[in-house]
Amino acid sequence: MDCIFCKIIAGEIPCFKLFESDDTLAFMDINPANEGHALVIPKEHYADVHTVSAAAISSTVMTAKMIAAAIEKTLSPEGINLLQCNGPAAAQSVLHFHMHVLPRRDGDELKLNWGLEPGDMDAIGKLAERIRANLQ
Ligand code: 5GP
Ligand code: ZN
Repeated sequence: MDCIFCKIIAGEIPCFKLFESDDTLAFMDINPANEGHALVIPKEHYADVHTVSAAAISSTVMTAKMIAAAIEKTLSPEGINLLQCNGPAAAQSVLHFHMHVLPRRDGDELKLNWGLEPGDMDAIGKLAERIRANLQ
């Protein structure tokens, strides 16, 4: 299957990994909408909220909660969105179910469907290390 997130799970494409459980993977988004933007995915491939299993969405949300706590500790953002997009109007660009853990800053004026712009890979890698150190 030609799925970029399945390739990341298989180790065929690198990622800045934050955490891995038996059934989920958390890693940094390489086109961050804000500093510290992370993604959490089930290891099993499901396209979206309509097809994801109850077990997969549950474990994904639990991992997202853990990642949110580590991001909170690392960056002390003024807010965090847990966000999940389905379909073209919601700007879903990767058809493998995923949750965004998206730190928010006062006045960042971030809108839904924010558009993808590559981040600074060096800075993302260093931040991933700091977030990993705050995982509990
Ligand atoms: P969506 O737009 O589908 O809700 O979110 C997909 C997310 O995956 C986007 O925020 C995009 O930046 C991210 N993304 C796409 N390709 C890659 C990749 O190869 N590596 C990583 N780490 N993130 C990716
Ligand atoms: Zn996939």
